[in-house]
Amino acid sequence: MRTNIPEAALADRGTLLANDIIRTCVHCGICLSHCPTYQIRHDENDSPRGRIILMRNMFEEDRAPDAKTVEHLDRCLTCLACEAICPSGVQYSKLIAHGRERIESTYRRPFVPRVIRRMLTVLIPNPRLFTIGFLLGRAARPLRGLLRGTLRAMLEVAPKDARVGSSPVDRPQIFLALSERRARVCMLSGCVQKVLDPAINEATIRLLRRHGVEVVIARGIGCCGAIAEHMGLPEQALPFVKANIDAWLSEADKPGGLDAIIINASGCGTSVKAYGHALRLDPAWKDKATRVSNLAKDITEFMSTLGIQIPHTPRRLRVAYHAACSMQHGQRIVHQPIDLLRAAGYEVVEPPDSFMCCGSAGVYNILQSSLASELKQRKVANIQSMNAEVVASGNIGCMTQLADAVGIPVVHTVELLDWATGGPMPEALRKAPVE
Ligand code: SF4
Ligand code: SF4
Repeated sequence: MRTNIPEAALADRGTLLANDIIRTCVHCGICLSHCPTYQIRHDENDSPRGRIILMRNMFEEDRAPDAKTVEHLDRCLTCLACEAICPSGVQYSKLIAHGRERIESTYRRPFVPRVIRRMLTVLIPNPRLFTIGFLLGRAARPLRGLLRGTLRAMLEVAPKDARVGSSPVDRPQIFLALSERRARVCMLSGCVQKVLDPAINEATIRLLRRHGVEVVIARGIGCCGAIAEHMGLPEQALPFVKANIDAWLSEADKPGGLDAIIINASGCGTSVKAYGHALRLDPAWKDKATRVSNLAKDITEFMSTLGIQIPHTPRRLRVAYHAACSMQHGQRIVHQPIDLLRAAGYEVVEPPDSFMCCGSAGVYNILQSSLASELKQRKVANIQSMNAEVVASGNIGCMTQLADAVGIPVVHTVELLDWATGGPMPEALRKAPVE
């Protein structure tokens, strides 16, 4: 695609990169069939190609975007299905990140959306504030019928019966391997996930220890920074990013080193794997950030290299595997979770159109509730067509999005792997025992 961005604007390294990316798009339109928003709206401006053109125009005009551009870029889920399918290698994730940064630095949103976005970037990375906000939201859930739009969506997404709270495993500490040590890893204990479903970290640690892995919860780690980054506020993400890098590298530089940084929420994994890119222009941090990105592994990616040991086989269940976009498109981890579940004795089925987003997408289900709801309904229908007994996924956002709608338990992949290798039955299965 040809561009004509003014030389002065190209002095900005982000815009220079955006220019290079836009030029790799050959306008073929192959991505349109994989774009969830285009599939629903059938509007070129809500397709990857259309958004690339909108961003090109925004950079060429070198001024604040108009409301139409903002609207169509806001509707993008950042699911990255387009990037995964693009034959020309267009790095859409980096382009939309810079496009969003331009919007947030030059465009003044109306008051209410501005306040809500600000509130989300403060609440979500802070587990204490998030817990308070979540409990208030859950208490107010019966009133949601009186509200509309984003405020209603905020109450809708609060899970009805989540075991909210903290787990002792999330504090800084070391969990020794239960057999001869094969690896030493740090684990990202996260922010939202450890509040909404503390059992996921507990299952991850049990699984790793049982497979000869020493697990360190490093002092000083916190949110991965993804929410601020997705909202076009990378500067707000940086304190989290740098604190995590320091915490993990202090463990990596100890005797024994570090074999991996384990992440069990794929949205966070995509973000940590991009730390090197986020800090590429900072001479003091770029090498450290790249080191962390290279160590980052999804739990299923890491367990695939270790292999599953099965001392205990639970009841053979039919599992519908829901591939989170950040897992399959963002990190290109496709077969590992399925292979592991099968190796652990489960029957795994993949619902149709598994490349399509469920509508969760970070805070998309709050900020774009109508589109998110339509995507959710499609995903739920596809999952239900499989006659599965349980849904497994590797991302808390997807789990929360689907839990109240699919009619069968939704668990994290790692909970099934833990159960199959000697851990307890996942809580969601205990609450709703399968027939
Ligand atoms: S598939 Fe890639 S090259 Fe083709 S229109 Fe989409 S982004 Fe451009
Ligand atoms: S990231 Fe997803 S929603 Fe956004 S343009 Fe690409 S395919 Fe469409």
